[in-house]
Amino acid sequence: MPLEEHIFFCGFATAATFGASSYLIVRPGGNVLVDMPRFYPRLIQGLEKLGGVKYIFLTHSDDIAGHEEFARHFNAERIIHTAERDSAPMEIRIEGSEPVQFATDLRIIPTPGHTRGSMCLLFDGALFTGDHLAAGRAGGLTSFRNACWYSWAELKKSNERLLNFDFSRVYPGHGRRYFSEASATTQRDLLRLISES
Ligand SMILES: [Zn+2]
Repeated sequence: MPLEEHIFFCGFATAATFGASSYLIVRPGGNVLVDMPRFYPRLIQGLEKLGGVKYIFLTHSDDIAGHEEFARHFNAERIIHTAERDSAPMEIRIEGSEPVQFATDLRIIPTPGHTRGSMCLLFDGALFTGDHLAAGRAGGLTSFRNACWYSWAELKKSNERLLNFDFSRVYPGHGRRYFSEASATTQRDLLRLISES
């Protein structure tokens, strides 16, 4: 299902990732699948029609069920942080907390907190956040204090680090998607979240 010109929602969430949302970024440099949907024939055909999958970006270990099947089928390279469990067999492993300019249009931002190796992916003003950040119930942005497996203090620091980046949409694994009219509005909402959390 298209969300934007280059961003699609996969649907077919699997119970193995607690129903996490997954997304496809369609780009000339190779499509990126963000987190894992179910390996379902109709979805696979849809992904193939859109040009297949070159990279599989795994925000964190909670949402990686089925990654072997997808990687094998599409001959895709999996990207994960070394601090995540089960990261050993993945092709591309990100270390430390410094952002990585993975391609001219793709930036990987380590955001430890929900888990030790949680990461966000920034593409064209859209931030894919896994379980790090989502829209709040009453607008604005929120992080999930009751589902913070590693460190709330680290999570707050990660949100402070996100102030350095321009984005106006947030596509989470769980929770609501966030849209703002400009990155300045996002920064204001992020600042409010940091001060209240
Ligand atoms: Zn999670």
